[in-house]
Amino acid sequence: MHIAVIGAGVVGVTTAYALCQRGHQVTVIERLDAAGMETSRANAGQRSYGYVYPWASPAMIKKALPWLLQQDAPLKMHLPPTADTLRFLIATWRFAQTPGLFDANKRAMLRLGSYSRQCFQALEDELSLDFDSGHRGLMELASDAQSAKALQVNAGLLNELGIEYESLDAAATLEREPALAEHGPLVGSLWLPGDGTGDCYRFTQALARTCEARGVCFQYGAQVVGAERDKGHIRALRLKPSDDGADVPECIASDAFVLCAGTQSRRLGELFGAKLPIYPVKGYSLTAPLLDPERAPRSTVIDDRYKVVSTRLGSRLRATGFVELADMDRRIPGSRLATIRRAIESRFPGAADLDAAESWTGFRPMTPDGPPVIGEGKRNNLYLNTGHGTFGWTLSAGSAQLVAQLIDGETPAVSLEPFRPGRFAH
Ligand SMILES: Cc1cc2nc3c(=O)[nH]c(=O)nc-3n(C[C@H](O)[C@H](O)[C@H](O)COP(=O)(O)OP(=O)(O)OC[C@H]3O[C@@H](n4cnc5c(N)ncnc54)[C@H](O)[C@@H]3O)c2cc1C
Repeated sequence: MHIAVIGAGVVGVTTAYALCQRGHQVTVIERLDAAGMETSRANAGQRSYGYVYPWASPAMIKKALPWLLQQDAPLKMHLPPTADTLRFLIATWRFAQTPGLFDANKRAMLRLGSYSRQCFQALEDELSLDFDSGHRGLMELASDAQSAKALQVNAGLLNELGIEYESLDAAATLEREPALAEHGPLVGSLWLPGDGTGDCYRFTQALARTCEARGVCFQYGAQVVGAERDKGHIRALRLKPSDDGADVPECIASDAFVLCAGTQSRRLGELFGAKLPIYPVKGYSLTAPLLDPERAPRSTVIDDRYKVVSTRLGSRLRATGFVELADMDRRIPGSRLATIRRAIESRFPGAADLDAAESWTGFRPMTPDGPPVIGEGKRNNLYLNTGHGTFGWTLSAGSAQLVAQLIDGETPAVSLEPFRPGRFAH
């Protein structure tokens, strides 16, 4: 079968790889000049298989208002909010109030996370890709007794799902991450030894090169602007060059289509009759060369005070933070970077050359409930693999295999019911 994949972020490229592995002929269409240039560019680098959860959480709703009023708090919103922001917030609030939904979605995401871990391991065993990858665990810190108690709530669910974890006291936490010694309050941590890290951009680029070598065609600089339909089917995609003068075909015909367009999926979904209320939730990162590796995290650490994630990526330290509702405003205010810097300096002083740090902003393709959208669209040759929000790097390898299984008429290895596209139809 010939299959066209829309979008060459980490989700589109892993999807192309899964389809090509199964012998399909694949074309990837990407509006930018290279793979991994949008949200997959400089994320926190966590492959947090045991630490995935839905956005629409009753606890988050309770914290939202106080957070919006605090300067260093992780949640920000541009005022006045736009109509899109309000619609997204109202939908989130509705999902958060639906009894039992958060727990069901969290279980579903953790199952997908475990499956994605298996898929990453198979992929890394098969291909020797160089992307500063590691599976040296993830640590969530508790700086006070209240945070430590909240970590215990999580632990119950991890037990139930058979996900390996350890609840560490302060001394055991320092054994795992010695650089934390004497830097900031510490009561203990939750340690997920099976979780991993890696540079999502370098992975996406390397996997795209592997795909190309195996015959996948990448059409860069081509924006999908329309679809030609034939009864219930999509026959072809209409393309427009992203830059005037670029050599781009007007149309690409295919047997099936997979939408992996990240934050643009909502607009593209409208072209295909799919209602996808995906909203761009903004975040920031700083990536700095290491000065003293002994002072840096060994793997990846989530600081409960700032909600900043610090990850070692080879000879670099990446720190990310903020959940901001600002539509697609690409500006990077100095105040956001200053908070991330403060968070790094408070836990890992002297670890990295922050004056030489590269700053970045990106937009999580977030569904109002939180789980990604994986499944069949209304047109019977359209498939969706999008809306991965905060965890697209982590879930990419698994969700790509699930879509490929669906396209080949197999029963997916993980139930797709919680991820069904039709859940937003009403
Ligand atoms: C600050 C921050 C930190 C994060 N940290 C983590 C983390 O630690 N772990 C984790 O798992 N996830 C993390 N994420 C989330 C993760 O980065 C995303 O979920 C993931 O990158 C989404 O991948 P994607 O392929 O769906 O989207 P993208 O990478 O945005 O790719 C979509 C592609 O589609 C293309 N496209 C869009 N419209 C069209 C069109 N009309 N025609 C052709 N092409 C089109 C775009 O150009 C783009 O390249 C983080 C995100 C942010 C912002």
